[in-house]
Amino acid sequence: MNRRVDAQESRKTGTQENRKAALQVPKEFLCPVRHKCGGCDFQGMPYEEQISRKTVYLKNLLVKDGLVEKMLPIVQMEDPWHYRCKVHAVFDHDRKGNPISGIYEKNSHKVVPVECCLIEDKEADEIIGSIRKLLPSFKIKTYDEDSGYGLLRHVLIRKGYVTGQVMVVLVTAEPIFPSKNNFVKALLTLHPSITTIVQNINEKNTSMVLGERNVTLYGKGYIEDQISGKTFRISPNSFYQVNPRQTQILYDKAMEAAGLTGSETVVDAYCGTGTIGIIAAEKAKQVIGVELNRNAVKDALINARANNVNNIDFVNADAGDFLQEAASEGAKIDVVIMDPPRTGSTEVFLDAVAAIQPKRVVYVSCGPDTLARDLRYLKKKGYHAVSAQGVDLFPHTKDVECVALLVRQFETAKTFVNVSLDMDEYRKLKNNRDKT
Ligand code: SAH
Repeated sequence: MNRRVDAQESRKTGTQENRKAALQVPKEFLCPVRHKCGGCDFQGMPYEEQISRKTVYLKNLLVKDGLVEKMLPIVQMEDPWHYRCKVHAVFDHDRKGNPISGIYEKNSHKVVPVECCLIEDKEADEIIGSIRKLLPSFKIKTYDEDSGYGLLRHVLIRKGYVTGQVMVVLVTAEPIFPSKNNFVKALLTLHPSITTIVQNINEKNTSMVLGERNVTLYGKGYIEDQISGKTFRISPNSFYQVNPRQTQILYDKAMEAAGLTGSETVVDAYCGTGTIGIIAAEKAKQVIGVELNRNAVKDALINARANNVNNIDFVNADAGDFLQEAASEGAKIDVVIMDPPRTGSTEVFLDAVAAIQPKRVVYVSCGPDTLARDLRYLKKKGYHAVSAQGVDLFPHTKDVECVALLVRQFETAKTFVNVSLDMDEYRKLKNNRDKT
């Protein structure tokens, strides 16, 4: 009898514990569309648990096989909500023809309506809501993927975290945009904080959000933001990290790892719009940024000029090809900073790194699995990862950014010898050994 009561009690406590765990995530932080949207793998999970899962993931990949000597704790976000400063909404209509906006349902082209996303910038979501409400009075139809009828396909909002500048990109299926001036006026009245509005024309039947042509409807056609006191231009199509609060920390960690003293020649490979290289230039003799995307290189040149940075050059090329050529010409490079896409780097690039023999390699990665693959390859080539640290740029998703510092194998050995070899001790040891 007593035992039955105990079992009942324990079942009760178990349920209470489960309830308590669920309560750790306040109701307002439970997204109503989390089961349909594929965006947040960890939605509804307490933030501490998300961090411990990411820590285990990184350790399994990087520490287990001895790829990284020291794993530093992941830098968490103080307030892991509404961090995305780049917000995209796809536009469609419901069965009654009313405009809806949101995200594509996981693995489909069905649009899940979203009013407010817990990781997106709040103001961006409000602007998207206003656009949705304005459409009927301007008789603007949303685009229908099946029939190809309608005008508005997507809206993209980009916001400068430090500057507060806001860009609205209206992606249309054709260049003709009836009543655009009045529409722009109405939107600016509702949101005076908008600093530029751009029409992007995407006539192709594609899953890519942006087309190639941009027409500025209001303002400068781009916004600016600041990191480490430097100003960077963000155009509709340019790559810029989506979480600016954590990007500042990520770049600080990369600079710390680079350990620049002012005399180094640095390569910033996969440099995008030149952000890391421009920040590094202040502490280096010379920087060379390498980037495959022509438009990103154009922005990088503008960014360097706007910040009066004169000791940086940009090369529009495949990073592997560029470094291979530099190696064959016997270039002297002291530090390589690399920030490749999720697919990681290439053997051509890594072989060239090994041939050039920079003192340090700083690997900034958004794909820990490809980071592990490339570290394994570099290890065979004589580069040893002394430390790695995760920076949580994407709370509520399974993704994590990582900065690893690699040095040449014999550089570590040299440091060891310098630090620990006391000549008197050595002679004593030698004498003892010679005697025996
Ligand atoms: N370091 C930048 C951009 C990193 S994203 C920043 O922090 O903002 C990765 C960049 O690598 C993108 O800009 C992409 O265009 C570029 N890229 C991709 N493949 C490349 C290649 N093979 N060679 C050079 N750059 C490449």
